[in-house]
Amino acid sequence: MADRNSRVTVVILGASGDLTQRKLGPAFFNLLDSGALPDLCSFIGVARSDYSDDRFRNYLRKGVGEVKNSSWEAFAARVSYFRGSSTDATAMKIMDAQISARCSEGQADNRVYHLALKPSLYRDTLTALAESGSLDESSGTRRVVIEKPFGTDYKSARELNSLVHSLLSEDQVFRIDHYLGKDTVQNILVFRFANTIFEPVWNRNYIDHVQISALEDLGVEGRGAFYDGAGVLRDMVQSHLMHLMALVAMEPPVSSAADALRNEKSKVLSAVRQIDSKSAIDNSVRGQYEGYLDEPGVEAGSPTATFGAIRLFIDNWRWQGVPFILRSGKALNRKTTEIAIEFQRPPQSLFGVTSDLMPNRLNISIQPDEGVHIRFVNKTPGSGNRLAAESLNFHFPSGVIRDAYERLLLDAIEGDATHFNRDDEIEFSWKIIDPFIESWIERNQPALHKYEVGSSGPPAAEKLLGNGRTWMLTDDI
Ligand code: NDP
Repeated sequence: MADRNSRVTVVILGASGDLTQRKLGPAFFNLLDSGALPDLCSFIGVARSDYSDDRFRNYLRKGVGEVKNSSWEAFAARVSYFRGSSTDATAMKIMDAQISARCSEGQADNRVYHLALKPSLYRDTLTALAESGSLDESSGTRRVVIEKPFGTDYKSARELNSLVHSLLSEDQVFRIDHYLGKDTVQNILVFRFANTIFEPVWNRNYIDHVQISALEDLGVEGRGAFYDGAGVLRDMVQSHLMHLMALVAMEPPVSSAADALRNEKSKVLSAVRQIDSKSAIDNSVRGQYEGYLDEPGVEAGSPTATFGAIRLFIDNWRWQGVPFILRSGKALNRKTTEIAIEFQRPPQSLFGVTSDLMPNRLNISIQPDEGVHIRFVNKTPGSGNRLAAESLNFHFPSGVIRDAYERLLLDAIEGDATHFNRDDEIEFSWKIIDPFIESWIERNQPALHKYEVGSSGPPAAEKLLGNGRTWMLTDDI
């Protein structure tokens, strides 16, 4: 936490946009309202729209919703608006001078720049900030939060990283993926490394396979133009799902320090088997919901996949031969994000065929259910050897979970990068996804399955699991 003689200014670049209104405004409001922020903390919104301070505050208020007037006024008093382009070094210099002028002699002038902009503006914005002297740390810290997506493939992510490194040191950079701020995601580490009973079986000797699913019941909901250029691999798999996989598969870190954790995530991502775009065809299934082509903003005849499943293998001692299946889709029959781990069947069938059919399962639910579920087999009371699957369930109490953005924005203000992506993690995850993108987009393979809205997606995806395995969701436990 900043000391009392320092000022923290959060500069939101792209302040008239959707992310600012829906996520950043409410998160900063709640942080201030709950007393989590330093006393001298203020917020400046930057965009080209002709807003006054008050109009910008009203814009934020719509996102925050119903709150006590006194709480709102305390927040609004710290909010101002700067009209200008984030890619204009002259404008950024004027703003830099205005922020500096708020600081008294000897007071640390710490800043966080949040790039809530279209990714195509990242490069020119970072350059303008650097040219204007805004990133100079002689009067205080300068941290930069960069929204996802970071790049559109391995090459573009590398290029962006190299620009970032020419202007900033890695510890000034906070590549945000709000999934990593969720309590349920952070709990994966606690579950694995604050308990001793799971670690001995957390490997290829006991685990049959791992499924990571992020299923949505809604379609593109008016974001057709954005989504059509991205598709499910870029929108969900490269970012959210890949990082869930890294948390499940990584080795124990040597400490809880940001780099200790990120070293292990990076290491396991680097061990994912590299395949070429031809093998990517056999290791993936893609689909598109019926009616997608009629969504506003979607190009006529677009081949963009709204459902995707990919199969990955991790070539290390712990995971050799264990399939990791990552799937995500829109307009499906349910909304859930969860990790399902299936353990191997018992080596001998003592109780008849049924026990063979029920291997132990562990489901870690991320959202909307927030909890952990373990399936095990029990004897059914009564005579004979009738068996039944039961489960042990844990749910986070409702109302105690802090919004992921709140948690991450506070971390960025405090300089804790533990739950942000490091340069190498991002590059490895694109390297894994690139062959799939190449086969789907450039080779137009595998076949694009049409699936009904409200269905469970293309049936072909289940075949990817292999060996007669089926999807395992908490509801099915
Ligand atoms: P929007 O298009 O809604 O907002 C971007 C804002 O940037 C616009 O309001 C625009 O306002 C402003 N802008 C454009 N050019 C400039 C410029 N040169 N200088 C200053 N401001 C400029 O996008 P989103 O808010 O949806 O997304 C922003 C970023 O966050 C993207 O990278 C997106 O991928 C990411 N993101 C968004 C999420 C969401 O839920 N929306 C979720 C996760 C990530 P004006 O015309 O007034 O300048």
